[in-house]
Amino acid sequence: MKKSPRAAPHARAKPKRAAARPSPAKTSSARPARKQRVASQRAGEQTAMQVRFWGVRGSLASAGPHTERIGGNTSCVEVRCGDELIIFDCGTGLRALGMSLAEKGATRASIFVSHYHWDHIAGLPFFAPAYDPHSQLTIYGATRMGKDVRQLLSGQMVDPYFPVDLGVFNARLQFVPIEDGGRTTLGAVTLQAAELCHPGGSLGYRLEFGGRVLVYATDFEHGTEADDRLVELARNADLLIFDAQFTPDEYDAKGARSRRGWGHSTYEAGATLAQRAGVKQLALFHHAPERDDAAVEEISRLARRTHKKTIAASEGLSIDL
Ligand SMILES: [Zn+2]
Ligand SMILES: [Zn+2]
Repeated sequence: MKKSPRAAPHARAKPKRAAARPSPAKTSSARPARKQRVASQRAGEQTAMQVRFWGVRGSLASAGPHTERIGGNTSCVEVRCGDELIIFDCGTGLRALGMSLAEKGATRASIFVSHYHWDHIAGLPFFAPAYDPHSQLTIYGATRMGKDVRQLLSGQMVDPYFPVDLGVFNARLQFVPIEDGGRTTLGAVTLQAAELCHPGGSLGYRLEFGGRVLVYATDFEHGTEADDRLVELARNADLLIFDAQFTPDEYDAKGARSRRGWGHSTYEAGATLAQRAGVKQLALFHHAPERDDAAVEEISRLARRTHKKTIAASEGLSIDL
């Protein structure tokens, strides 16, 4: 890993219609990029895909000194595949990604939403390219409870929860339904969706480009037949991004302290599933809000006992595949 200068100075990231927008949530800011080549990659081999983490926290943003190193923003991952920009989830990390993109002019991006829990959508109203009339955003998500992706994302921008509605966006927006087993092609990029195991549903995605495979599978509870679906989805992936919110002790605690049925998994289950699927590198993701930097590093150390190539996803971490 190496450090490079801060990527997204805040001062220049003024979105259009700033006056109409509410103050951004107080979460940690954009971090310096840290680069890592995937363990399987040989020296001199060409990079096909760049993956960068902008939000790695689960359930709720968690800013403060205890999350300084790993980061406090919720789910958002940027993937570059040639000319295609793919974004997984619109958690609070999307805000800093948007500022970084806005500095370079208009944005063309495809956004894949796993599901509509707040920690995966709360960044969308603060995404600067959505206010740029020259930007083009295509947003993919599942239809749930009879509502399509547009209706579901609009639902967080209504009174009394939010001051402005989705009509405030000036970008060219397209909303595309996607479901379990759905396949999408973007130029030379292919994506496949699979239903995970999570209350209300959550889609995992397998992204293939240039002979590389990335699997984004967050908000997933292990221990059902969905494990087999995930193993198939993640088969021989170069990188699996996986929900490791709980420790086994938290998950299996007795009585009211048990986290069973909450829709999340453990680092141990992640490492076991990664082994079963022949995954090259596992990135533990969706860290619990209360898990401090040392505790996140500790769970990745413990996961490496089962799956050697395991890291903890952290804000600003960039991985070349
Ligand atoms: Zn979540
Ligand atoms: Zn969720």
